[in-house]
Amino acid sequence: MTVFSQMAAAGHEQVCHVADADTGLRAIVAVHSTALGPGLGGVRIREYADEQAALVDVLRLSEAMSYKAACAGLRCGGAKAVVLGPFPRDREAAMHALGRAVDGLSGRYVATEDMGMTEADIALLNEVTPHAVGRSLEAGGSGDPSPHTADGVIAGMRASLRAAGRTVDFQGLRVAVQGCGNVGFGVIERLLAAGATVIASDVSQQARERAAGAGAQIVDNDRIHAESADIFAPCGIGAILNAGSIAELGCAIVAGGANNQLAEAEDGERLAARGIVYAPDFVINAGGLINVSDELDSEGYNAERVRFRVASIESTLDEVFAQASAQGETTERVAMAMAKTRIEAGSR
Ligand code: NAD
Repeated sequence: MTVFSQMAAAGHEQVCHVADADTGLRAIVAVHSTALGPGLGGVRIREYADEQAALVDVLRLSEAMSYKAACAGLRCGGAKAVVLGPFPRDREAAMHALGRAVDGLSGRYVATEDMGMTEADIALLNEVTPHAVGRSLEAGGSGDPSPHTADGVIAGMRASLRAAGRTVDFQGLRVAVQGCGNVGFGVIERLLAAGATVIASDVSQQARERAAGAGAQIVDNDRIHAESADIFAPCGIGAILNAGSIAELGCAIVAGGANNQLAEAEDGERLAARGIVYAPDFVINAGGLINVSDELDSEGYNAERVRFRVASIESTLDEVFAQASAQGETTERVAMAMAKTRIEAGSR
C-alpha cells in the first residue's frame, strides 16, 4: 500500500516525515483532521520494528484523537507524532529539531505528551514553537491530566449506572479496578470516598501496595475481570476485552480509563450480546484531553471550564447509551458515528 492509499483509508489530511541529520531524530507527524480545530495529539517515543509499523501506529492514533476530541465537544482535530526510537542522546537538540518541524506546520498540529514524553520535553518544544501544550501548572499550563481523566471516568460510571437501570449512587457498589497507576488510583480514591467497595489489581507490587493502603482489596490481576462486581474499570492496558475475557466477565458494566479496551471491533457486539453496558473508552477517558486542550483557549487555561466540560462526559454518554438502545447498535459504533457527524459538520 502506498502512503497515499493508507492516508485515504481513514481520510488523513497530512503526513509529514521529519529527519534531523545533526541529532539523528526521525519522526512522523500525522494530521488526521483539522475540521473542528487544530490537530491536537501526543508525541509518542517508541522503538518500532520498522518505518511501516511507525506509520501504521501514527495513522491509527491520530484518527482516534479526532474521534475523542469530537465526542468531547472540543474545538480540536486529531493528530499525533511518533518518534522512532531510540531517542537521540542529545535530547535537548533533538526536541528542538522536533519543535522546529512542529512549528513548520503552523499550528495545524499541536503537540502534547504521550508515552516517553515529559513536561520537561514540552518545555523544550516550547523554546522553539508555541504549538506544544501540556505545560506544568507552575508554567501556567494545565498540569497532570490524570486527575481529570479519573473525574471523567467517575462521570461516565454515573451515566453507565443509569443506562443499566441502576440507582446513580456509589454507596455499597462493588467496583473492580484493573491498573492502579495515575488514572486507576485516582478512580479508586474517588470510589472509596463515595462509599464503594473497591477490588483492585496491578502487575506492579508498588501500585498494589498503594491501592491497598488507600482501602482497596487486592485480587489476582489475571482474574479480576471475572470477579463479581457492579462495574469493571480497566485502567491499565488496552485489549483487555476479548472473546475469552468477555465470556468470563462478572460485572454489569464496563467503564474505565484505559485506551483501546476492545481487542477487536466484534468485542463491542460480544459485550452487547451479554447485556453488559460498555462505556466506549474514547468517550469516558477524554478528561485528560479536555484538560490539556484548554491551554489552547485564547484566554488561557481555566480550571472551572475544564471541570464543567469533564462533567459533561456524563451527558455525552447518556446520549450514546440512548442512541445505542434506540438503534439496537453497539455503544462503540454509536460514539464513532457521533464523532464522524460532528467532524463532517465541522468541515462544511
Ligand atoms: P500509568 O502508567 O500511571 O499506570 C498504568 C498502571 O497499569 C501501572 O500501575 C501499571 O503497573 C499497570 N499495568 C500495566 N500493565 C498492566 C497489566 N497487564 N495489568 C494490570 N495493570 C497493568 O498510566 P495512566 O496514566 O494511569 O494510564 C492508564 C491507562 O489510561 C492507559 O491505557 C492510558 O493510555 C489511559 N489514559 C490515560 C490518560 C491520562 O490522563 N493519564 C488519559 C486517557 C487515557
